[in-house]
Amino acid sequence: MTDRSPQPQPEDSSTEHDTAPEPVDVRRLAPDSLVVAAGRPARTAEAPVNPPIWLSSTYHSVGPVDPLRRSYGRSENPSWEPFEEALGELERSSLPALLFSSGMAAVDAALTLLPPGGTLVIPRHSYQGSLVAVHEAESRGQLTVVEVDVADTDAVIAALPGAAMLWLESPTNPMMEIAEIAVLTRAAHAAGALVVADNTFCTPLLQRPLDLGVDVVVHSVTKYLAGHSDVILGAVVTSDAELRARLLRTRTVRGAIAGSFEAWLALRGLRTLAIRLERSEATAALLAARLAEHPAVGRVRYPGLPDDPGHARAAAQMSGFGSILALETAGGAHAAERLTERVRLWSPATSLGGVESLVERRRRHETESLTVPTNLVRLSVGIENAEDLWADLAGALA
Ligand SMILES: *Cc1c(COP(=O)(O)O)cnc(C)c1O
Repeated sequence: MTDRSPQPQPEDSSTEHDTAPEPVDVRRLAPDSLVVAAGRPARTAEAPVNPPIWLSSTYHSVGPVDPLRRSYGRSENPSWEPFEEALGELERSSLPALLFSSGMAAVDAALTLLPPGGTLVIPRHSYQGSLVAVHEAESRGQLTVVEVDVADTDAVIAALPGAAMLWLESPTNPMMEIAEIAVLTRAAHAAGALVVADNTFCTPLLQRPLDLGVDVVVHSVTKYLAGHSDVILGAVVTSDAELRARLLRTRTVRGAIAGSFEAWLALRGLRTLAIRLERSEATAALLAARLAEHPAVGRVRYPGLPDDPGHARAAAQMSGFGSILALETAGGAHAAERLTERVRLWSPATSLGGVESLVERRRRHETESLTVPTNLVRLSVGIENAEDLWADLAGALA
């Protein structure tokens, strides 16, 4: 029981009550605490627990001109900063992330780090939008694209001499191939190439490319980080101050900036990232194991399956296997399409990383890579009850 008898008071108890303890050093927290604690306003009397949303395109310009002061909403917005701090800390960068208007705007900004006409080595199963963007840039004469099988370490290394940038995505989308990030990054640096990793599928909770030597990390914040399929946003993270300054300048000049409300929603979504991932990953592992045994399924691609070709690599560089998997229906493309039409709890929709479970036959998109099987269905596992998800899938497969 609590002792309610008067306690001896320290001599100067007033100062004890007036001064708050030093704020917690969020960098020393575990990632699942960091997502909750990072990017909070300073703990002063009556300060809000959550950052406010700033809705202003410009700021009072009083006193002498100072380039470090806020002046205009395309260059500075305090509504971006809490999320940028939190994501920077989660990726263990020494610098805050930079928020962009979409994942593709972040991809586009990272590509501006390529010198004019430079060669880009990129996985042939990268995010399809990134591939479209680099091939369009190539057709404008801005760069040269070399596509590789990123799971084939020797082939990637052989493509590196003369390259200015290595693009990495692991697992790839939707083939779930695993790249040896640290090995490829060392080889790229030895060849003088900058390394960019799209970490959308993993989030920093499952994989931290900067720790593996990568120079720049890009994210579609739209997916797991925001997590509720209600915003489009992107981000770039680097620990290199010069690269960050160039990326910031690109954002300011080209203007692909985030809205204040979207940035706030992303931070709100980030608060639950750890528990969302914990739940969806456990369900994905269960579904992958059951699907692998199902007679209507030919192959399951999920790095968490012990016999998956990427399993050992994924186990070595990721702290979890994530909640995206792909299955190939035994009955071909028609059966795959029927599966997406028959599910009732799962939604047939593109995108991934939200609280709701989504299914998509990727080859229904004409732009999807022709090396992706026509009967491949990508599953983004959400946070619904695992048995309900299984019953719905099994019913649709029957
Ligand atoms: C969705 C996605 C993107 C693009 O992000 P948007 O927010 O849709 O612009 C880039 N990379 C990957 C891996 C993605 O899944």
